[in-house]
Amino acid sequence: MTFHVVGAGVAGLAGALLLAKAGHRVAIHEAAPSPGGRARALPDGTDNGTHALLGANRVALRFLGAIGARDAWIEPEPAGLPVLDLADHQARCVALSPLGWARGARRPGGLTLGGLLALMRLALPGADRTVAAAFAAHPALLRTLVEPLTVAALNTPAEEASARLLGIVLRRLALPGAAKLFVASRGLGPDLVAPAIATLACHGATLRSGARLRAILREGGRATALDFGEEIIALQPEDEVMLAVPPWEAARLLPEVPAPDRHAPILNLHFAHATEGPVRFIGLLGGLAQWVLVRPGGVAVTVSAADDSVGLSDDVAAVRIWPEVREAALSFGLPGDWPVAPPRARAVRERRATPRHGITPRPRPPRRPLANVALAGDWTLPDLPATIEAAVRSGETAAAVLMSAPLPKDPA
Ligand SMILES: Cc1cc2nc3c(=O)[nH]c(=O)nc-3n(C[C@H](O)[C@H](O)[C@H](O)COP(=O)(O)OP(=O)(O)OC[C@H]3O[C@@H](n4cnc5c(N)ncnc54)[C@H](O)[C@@H]3O)c2cc1C
Repeated sequence: MTFHVVGAGVAGLAGALLLAKAGHRVAIHEAAPSPGGRARALPDGTDNGTHALLGANRVALRFLGAIGARDAWIEPEPAGLPVLDLADHQARCVALSPLGWARGARRPGGLTLGGLLALMRLALPGADRTVAAAFAAHPALLRTLVEPLTVAALNTPAEEASARLLGIVLRRLALPGAAKLFVASRGLGPDLVAPAIATLACHGATLRSGARLRAILREGGRATALDFGEEIIALQPEDEVMLAVPPWEAARLLPEVPAPDRHAPILNLHFAHATEGPVRFIGLLGGLAQWVLVRPGGVAVTVSAADDSVGLSDDVAAVRIWPEVREAALSFGLPGDWPVAPPRARAVRERRATPRHGITPRPRPPRRPLANVALAGDWTLPDLPATIEAAVRSGETAAAVLMSAPLPKDPA
């Protein structure tokens, strides 16, 4: 009996690990030359894009623990998130959780009692509306807190993003420890993908890269063979398949599966600027960029919901973004030289980084579209934003479904 896992993104890796740890024979098939999917290292070791996790992402953090990588994800800003407002050049430290707002200094700008009530109302059931509509009466809070959180968590502009989904994110942030922010200290390669692959190998799972599933042959509601072009793998009656591919590939392979078809881009700009200090993570308001991750190897800048900027050339993006980075670095006293001229930069454009999280409900695909096939992937859990947390949850759920085991419990 073999469990075939198609797709070695986070969902496939997490699902494969549960299967392999349960003692099953697991074969992972990945189309790209290397694993990781949308959370991967590029051939030169650079991350495709900055990935942050929150304390609220308990299942993702548990997965990091299971692959021995939990300690590699560090909290760069334990005292609160440094945020520079480029409009008025104010630099402050903001608590991401309402629990931290008791201390006035950590409150986001523009927070009033009315704004707090509007945030609390997001938790109430009711018809969905856009985040911008929900905060129309609180423009200052929308600008300083709600819009940046929306773009970071939902990768969708506030004028389009679902207030209901943002409410789910905010409810999770209200728990103790939930708003701690973690980043990979070295990068996604050494701190996520490589440890996952090594752990899987220890449990006997195999990984084949460059193996793109072209078609699923089927008969009587079951998959009978996996067509990889040069190789067709006939499935034995007891074999099972986890399809852990992005939505557009799932829709191509199984056209009857409802899958999101509108996606939002993320632009990451990597500056070749070596620094001396510790890892830092800074938020920007009112600029083109939203997040700056400073690691000794370089400075990575994120523009989420990047519909308007994903088309910029590397040079234009660098010229526009570097002054924002420099001002942030100087405002927060980051060590080293921050020259006026932008260092060499390279952009990574993920045009389909996540589904768009708008107010039209995302389709809810079946867990088992065929008798011996289960679906995984960040997009398969429409009640959650498409993130690493959703990807791990989906992979672990699909593994449990395939093993007819109880669904994994949430960590306490
Ligand atoms: C730039 C960027 C920044 C992000 N930032 C964050 C963040 O800060 N925090 C966070 O939690 N999330 C973030 N995300 C989202 C996160 O990366 C994704 O939610 C997660 O990686 C999705 O994992 P997945 O396994 O569901 O899908 P994928 O990563 O897309 O994995 C699917 C895999 O299937 C493979 N595949 C596709 N078709 C086939 C086929 N036919 N045959 C075989 N293999 C196939 C693909 O190559 C891929 O490896 C970000 C995403 C991007 C792009």
